[in-house]
Amino acid sequence: MDKRIISAALTGNWGKKSNNPAIPMTPEEIAASAVEAYEAGAAIVHIHMRNEQMLPTMDVELFRKTVRLIREKCDIIINITSSGDHTGEHIGSDDIRCAPFEILKPEMGSFDCGTMNWMHNSIFSNHPRFLEKLGAVMIESGVKPELEIFDAGMIGTTLYYMKKGLIKSPPHYQFVLGCPGGMDATVDNLVFLKNLLPEGATWSATGIGRGHIPIMMASLAMGGHIRVGLEDNIYYEPGVLATSNAQLVARAATLMRSVGMEPATPNEAREILSLPQR
Ligand code: ZN
Repeated sequence: MDKRIISAALTGNWGKKSNNPAIPMTPEEIAASAVEAYEAGAAIVHIHMRNEQMLPTMDVELFRKTVRLIREKCDIIINITSSGDHTGEHIGSDDIRCAPFEILKPEMGSFDCGTMNWMHNSIFSNHPRFLEKLGAVMIESGVKPELEIFDAGMIGTTLYYMKKGLIKSPPHYQFVLGCPGGMDATVDNLVFLKNLLPEGATWSATGIGRGHIPIMMASLAMGGHIRVGLEDNIYYEPGVLATSNAQLVARAATLMRSVGMEPATPNEAREILSLPQR
C-alpha cells in the first residue's frame, strides 16, 4: 500500500474567528480539532497557541495543556511551531521560541531556515543565532525538525546546518508555497524545489490559497506527503469557508484513496520519518 502522511496545520498565527469561526483558538478547541483531524486521517498535527486576545503566543503552559488533551485521545504526532509569538520586535525572543521544545519535548517542531518579508507587512525573523540555538535545543530534546521551506535559498541553509551537525539526517522538509514574500504555489516551483533536496530526505508540501489543490495533487503524484488545515487555507473552495480542519483532512484522504494511496497512521508516519514508535 502506498502510504502518505497528512499533516494538519490547525490554527497558525494570523487567522481570526472573524475570518473563519472554525479556526480553533483555545487549548480545548485546538485539541478537539486535532482529534477530529486524526479521526479523518491526519498523522501529524502542527500546532500554534493563542492568548485570550487571540494573538499568537509561545506560552508553554498553553502548549502543555493542549498536548495533554490531545494525548488523552490519540497518538497523533505533535509538531509544535517555533514561530508563534507576538511579543518583541518580530516574533519573540530566541528563548521564548525554544522553550516548548526544551520543556515539553514534542516529537516534532517547525524549523524555518531563513528570514523573509512576510505578507508585505512584517518580517519573519530567523537570525542565524536563533537557528543555531534551535538546532541544538532540538537535538538535545529529541525533537525532529520539520524544515519549513518558503524559498529555494532556505534549502541551502538546511544543508549548511546538516554539515555543522545542527540538523540530523534524514531531514524532513515542508514546502509552504504561496505566501507573499516566498515562492508562489505552482507545480513548476514544487518540482524545482524537490530536485534540490538531499538524498534520503522526506518531504511534504502545502499551497496557500489558489495553489492548494494543485500543490496537493502534484505532491501526491511526485511521491510526497501533504499538509492541509486552517493555518494555510480558511476556504474549502472559492467563496466557501471550510467548516473544520477535519473537513480539509477528509478531502485529502478521499483524494488519496481514489488513486490507490492510503493515509499513513501516526505509527506508519513515524516509520517513514525515522521517528521512534509510540
Ligand atoms: Zn505554523
